[in-house]
Amino acid sequence: MIPRLHYKIAALFLKQSHAVISINFVRSLSYQTTRSQTKTSTIRIRRMGDPAEENKGIEQFNKRFLDCAATGDLNTLNALIGAVDVDFKSDRGWTALMFAARNGHTSVISLLIEKNCDINAMNASGQTALDIAHFWNHTEAAKLLSRQRKDVAFEQIHNYYSLNPLYRASDIRKDKDALLKAQSNESTKFIIFSNRLPFLINGGGSKTKFKFATFTCSQLPDSCFDDNATIVFLGFETWDPDSSAWFAVEIGNETISSLKEHYPNGDFLTPFPVTMQMEPTHAGIFAEAHSILCWLDRYKFCPTCGSRNKVVEGGYKQVCTDKECSSHKGVHNTCYPRVDPSLIMLVVSPDQKRCLLGRGKRHPAKMYSCLAGFMEPGECIEDTCRREVEEESGVKIGRVDYHSSQPWPFPATLMLGCVAHARTDKITIDKEELEDARWFSRAEVSQMLAKQHPDGIFVPPAEAIAHQLIKSWISSSSSNL
Ligand code: ZN
Ligand code: MG
Repeated sequence: MIPRLHYKIAALFLKQSHAVISINFVRSLSYQTTRSQTKTSTIRIRRMGDPAEENKGIEQFNKRFLDCAATGDLNTLNALIGAVDVDFKSDRGWTALMFAARNGHTSVISLLIEKNCDINAMNASGQTALDIAHFWNHTEAAKLLSRQRKDVAFEQIHNYYSLNPLYRASDIRKDKDALLKAQSNESTKFIIFSNRLPFLINGGGSKTKFKFATFTCSQLPDSCFDDNATIVFLGFETWDPDSSAWFAVEIGNETISSLKEHYPNGDFLTPFPVTMQMEPTHAGIFAEAHSILCWLDRYKFCPTCGSRNKVVEGGYKQVCTDKECSSHKGVHNTCYPRVDPSLIMLVVSPDQKRCLLGRGKRHPAKMYSCLAGFMEPGECIEDTCRREVEEESGVKIGRVDYHSSQPWPFPATLMLGCVAHARTDKITIDKEELEDARWFSRAEVSQMLAKQHPDGIFVPPAEAIAHQLIKSWISSSSSNL
């Protein structure tokens, strides 16, 4: 019997009838209980102490995993699969799936697909497993991989900051009593902000470094529920109004220290970039809360007559306190929160072999990204895209395809991601906006995505929609985006 292996690194003492093994580092949680079974195990539990040794151990597992994929050793691969990252890459950016594709091991490919490996991953030369299977004429392997690709192509892309799981229940916003009832419910979760800075605690993961600390109504001081308090209804955990509600509260300086006592390691943090390293559902909730809180803070007075605004509908509407104000008559958009659409586009060259990436002056050194700009009133998405690209780079655009969108809560932008098909390729940079803009080949962009470009240039991280646009283009072996 082959032991089941898990990701977790645990400090355990395993006491067995035939042996006592003392270890600090164990990858197997459901271990064998008799010596005879242990003997059949394909993975040895090793005595390891310091972190360097542990890393060496992980490295060995990963290398062995790649070897098994290359040789088609299905049994060992199966035994290792819980202990390794299925998308682990070799120095040249090869994954297990690519090695299996290189050698036409269809059963290994099936197993890796079943284990949710990334079938769109690329090696340092910009090849996917499918490209590799085609190149080496492994027809069955290619069939298997391309069948899977179709499913991936139809999957909806959900960008970071868009994974807010709350049911917004906008009908409840107008019902004052229902909101008050929800506020006083002990299962209700309050997230707190001070001057729009979210109060965050350790998220517990290597990528999810932060999450919201949640408070109950009895933990919050009465001042949080005053008439003047800023409190925003974010939604319920499910469609059922009896499920837990979430609210965002701006707290006053005088209550900061008493609230911090509940989470001694938590703190109010400047939201960018720390919210890019959040539990993704919490990042979605942050996007909603932060955008509304910023709007309430910046629009305290009626834009029509300058009188005080009054907050209603759980923070989602502000009305002018002057009854005579013309904002009370007719159709206006001044009393609702703003969402400012902007465009971000991957420009593909006329021959479809290159894409245009640029560097804004404020970008981190060596980072290249998609061009972007704000929509103007009365402009459609396609024209914004054409105008922005031509203004910034001189490149003329023909067809524009919508790709996906991303809320960008600093304070309330909605980024609309597009693929723009260039009609010309001569670049004339607008030096006011960009420091540089260039055409990059697929191979080069693959290296930038993998952070393996010889010049050290790279693209934004996976949490940015720019990354997803670039990755989609690279992943489309048919080049028909
Ligand atoms: Zn007014
Ligand atoms: Mg611009």
